[in-house]
Amino acid sequence: MSRPAIIDSHCHLQNLPAGELEAALDAARERGVGGFLLPAVRLADADEVLGICHRHSDVWCALGVHPHDALTWQDGDQERLRGLLADPKAVAVGECGLDFYYDHSPREVQERVLAEQWELAIELDLPVVVHNRDSNDAMLAMVRRPQFGRLRADFHSFAGGLAMARELIERGFYLGFSGMITFPKADNVREVLPFLAAEQILVETDTPYLAPVPYRGKPNRPAYVVEVGERLAVELGCSYSEVSALTSRNFFRLYSKAAA
Ligand SMILES: [Zn+2]
Repeated sequence: MSRPAIIDSHCHLQNLPAGELEAALDAARERGVGGFLLPAVRLADADEVLGICHRHSDVWCALGVHPHDALTWQDGDQERLRGLLADPKAVAVGECGLDFYYDHSPREVQERVLAEQWELAIELDLPVVVHNRDSNDAMLAMVRRPQFGRLRADFHSFAGGLAMARELIERGFYLGFSGMITFPKADNVREVLPFLAAEQILVETDTPYLAPVPYRGKPNRPAYVVEVGERLAVELGCSYSEVSALTSRNFFRLYSKAAA
């Protein structure tokens, strides 16, 4: 198989059932998946997440606190996260963001915890993995703050609509596309693709969620990033090989610590 390797830029491998991790990675590698980014959702996950990365040369991680878990963020956690990010396998801050759909943490707490993580990312010159759901206005207010002008980010599993996409694109952010682009009714996800520069596109599975067609409703696996890439190729009017080469280049440009 001579197709260029594709990279799953967002898969929660720590959420796979015990004993399935190795098989899931091998199944993906057999289909030409050449790298995996594993986002933590809590600092308490960091040791487990880093352990997975250190056992696999093709797995890297983001370390941070998900908006659902913003209430776990304590005084001193910015320092703790700074220390954890010194690990060579920790290539980004995240998964961090805002989620006003579930509101598992109070909104002002989500915003404060996000701001502390972005401050640290800028200081360390690391990119961030951003989760954004039903929080476009608050998220745009954050990215417009002058203090975050140098932020580098992947807005993962992007479904924020065209107006949001246009501002994020103009600011040079990357958008990650998941199995949602294969869903028949997801025109609102696909419609942003023509506005993106090729250099701003990433592909992901969001394992174990959002399995693409034809696995919809089943647990997602990193091997299925191939279906995401194939659909992206159709939407962009290019070949799968071009999509995999392009998105892998984009991955290592954004997550440059993984290329070191
Ligand atoms: Zn995630």
